[in-house]
Amino acid sequence: MTPCRHLEEIRPVIPSSDGCFDCLRDGRRDWVHLRVCQSCGLVGCCDSSPAHHARRHAAVARHAIVRSYEPGEQWFWCYVEDMAFELPGLAAGPSHFVPPPAPPPRSVWTLFAGGVSSTGVPGGSAGWGGQRPGRP
Ligand SMILES: [Zn+2]
Ligand SMILES: [Zn+2]
Ligand SMILES: [Zn+2]
Repeated sequence: MTPCRHLEEIRPVIPSSDGCFDCLRDGRRDWVHLRVCQSCGLVGCCDSSPAHHARRHAAVARHAIVRSYEPGEQWFWCYVEDMAFELPGLAAGPSHFVPPPAPPPRSVWTLFAGGVSSTGVPGGSAGWGGQRPGRP
């Protein structure tokens, strides 16, 4: 049981974007965490982010409840009662895309490749006078 009186506002929404909708529109990406409005699916940034778009959207659109958009987090937040709660019976919510770890910088690769890149002569035709190099 939860004391939140806005549970009927929760519906299966499709997140509007992979990042904060308003931040992206303003050309910024400095949010900290993301929340999904459970009434319309708008993705907004949390209270730790500079722009507080999730809270602002809740106030302007009068949508009370958001859900965490972070991987592995399933909790809800009601902006009217300012409280978090979970609904254990509910399916896991979507989370935003997390990019895979970046490949190591190029210098590391050339370091690795240095010892094994001596086999680079293709075919051995031109310049060899038709004679292929024999096996060692
Ligand atoms: Zn509530
Ligand atoms: Zn934002
Ligand atoms: Zn909304």
